[in-house]
Amino acid sequence: MKYSPQTVDLHTHSTASDGILTPVELVSRAADKGVTQLALTDHDTMAGFYAAKAEAQRRNIQLVPGIEFSSQWKGRGIHIVGLGMDLDSPVLKDAVQGQEQRRLGRAVLIAERLENKGFFGAFEGAQLQAGGSVENPVMVGRPHFARWMLEQGHVTTIQQAFKKWLGAGKPGDIKQVWPEVSEVVGWIKESGGVAVVAHPDHYKMTRTKLKTFLDDFVEAGGRAMEVSSGPQAPNVTSNMAQLCREYDLLASCGSDFHSPGQSWLELGCYPPLPQDLTPVWQHWR
Ligand code: MN
Ligand code: MN
Ligand code: MN
Repeated sequence: MKYSPQTVDLHTHSTASDGILTPVELVSRAADKGVTQLALTDHDTMAGFYAAKAEAQRRNIQLVPGIEFSSQWKGRGIHIVGLGMDLDSPVLKDAVQGQEQRRLGRAVLIAERLENKGFFGAFEGAQLQAGGSVENPVMVGRPHFARWMLEQGHVTTIQQAFKKWLGAGKPGDIKQVWPEVSEVVGWIKESGGVAVVAHPDHYKMTRTKLKTFLDDFVEAGGRAMEVSSGPQAPNVTSNMAQLCREYDLLASCGSDFHSPGQSWLELGCYPPLPQDLTPVWQHWR
């Protein structure tokens, strides 16, 4: 279901993480779609911010500093969006660096496992696939290893790379360990930002479980949740709005846009927030 465009989008991705558009292209597209207040929330990095900022100024868009942190709660992967942090905060810088090290550590382990199976040069190969190098490593994940294996002729399809070497239970299946939600919320708070639960409906938690999670999130200092995320069903929006009221949270919303060409997902497009909620973006207006 596609929704009529809104002027705010507080959850988007660029090539600084797993998006397809560069930060400049993303801001430019947002402007074309009528967005006037935007957050670039790449996974565990703010590397795209300054390029995006310059374009935002040019196009007269307000760019709110943003990030989407990976974390865990009771062993479950949870994404926490941070908005409005002070970019010079040492806590934020350390946090981003720590997340980078965690990803890099995992990539090194995957590469070691593959090399043990005779696939030499796996680390460098995956880095090159992602636009990095051994000297200047960037974030790589299993898809980059898969593309390298395909290119080298170790496998005939990407699917085969996962099925034989990278998927569940295979040598390259290294679990990524992320910090606890409470720690991540602490980073965001300490760097002057607002912690937001990203796409709360995506975790497939029961309502009871989601409420236990929200108890912990609020206890840690979390203050907002995405009531509206991408092309979600109307009953999801009303369920999330209900929780937002119950926990007295600020309401956020965003498309979680990663790439153009998906007719059901566009910048600024998500179900409108119920009128009675307090929007998180009031802060930066
Ligand atoms: Mn993503
Ligand atoms: Mn996410
Ligand atoms: Mn996202």
